[in-house]
Amino acid sequence: MIQPADAQARRAIKPVICYPVETLPAPDMPLYQAARESLTKQGEVLVPAREARCFSVPAGCFFRISSIEGPQVGDLNLFNAHDLSERFYSGKTRALHGTHITTGQRMWSSFPHLRPMATITHDTLGWYGIDAFGGSVHDVIGTRCDPYTHALLSGGGQYHHCCHSNLTRSLADHLGVSRRKAEPHVHDVLNVFMCTGFTRDTGQYFMKASPVRPGDYLEFFAEIELLGNLSACPGGDCSSEHSSDTAACYPLLVEVFAPEAATLTHWNPPVANQYDRTHGI
Ligand SMILES: [Zn+2]
Repeated sequence: MIQPADAQARRAIKPVICYPVETLPAPDMPLYQAARESLTKQGEVLVPAREARCFSVPAGCFFRISSIEGPQVGDLNLFNAHDLSERFYSGKTRALHGTHITTGQRMWSSFPHLRPMATITHDTLGWYGIDAFGGSVHDVIGTRCDPYTHALLSGGGQYHHCCHSNLTRSLADHLGVSRRKAEPHVHDVLNVFMCTGFTRDTGQYFMKASPVRPGDYLEFFAEIELLGNLSACPGGDCSSEHSSDTAACYPLLVEVFAPEAATLTHWNPPVANQYDRTHGI
């Protein structure tokens, strides 16, 4: 391939961060840390292996997703409980925080809202960092495993327990609507506990065995009233393959906790986005 004479010079230009987060409204982590000292459990939902379940979290409460029986990855959708059109925006969360998220970072909602839906307040896998392959945990790059990509790559194979289908069935059951009606609400997920990255040589999306072990959990503070939908991925720990029943799979536990009200006296719920929505003249 013909290269321009200044190809090296063009490649040598230093990158700049697309979205410097210094001006992003910062979560009050000391407030959250104080609040989580006073938690009382409100309820729990068990997500069976290769299935999904919905759960509700009041604004100002915490929820935890825990590994309980074996290494297991979860695919998480979040909605504004009162308006399903406001939902988790994986792509913009990635643009703001990077490919993987952990304590102190947030799950942002779709346009025109673009406000924090949940803040991560504790991550027992926070020690993992970025490994020698460029892999890390809790990614916002992998969309969700789905039967359409599986059919595309397998010459028409039919598999019904990909996270996309699990989330569709679960949401349909929760809303009391058909799967056809529920499916368009399913969106790109937070891949809880999944260990992923991009290969340096080809830039391809990779996964590897999750470092999660029973007892590990990821904890969130609900900034608005949430409807959650969590799938226990058929990939199990995602060490080999998904979109099949071959991997060892385990349930995931979702628990909801309320802090003492006094600890949230100075908490400021997220406000509407300040863009005027006129889009100019
Ligand atoms: Zn999956």
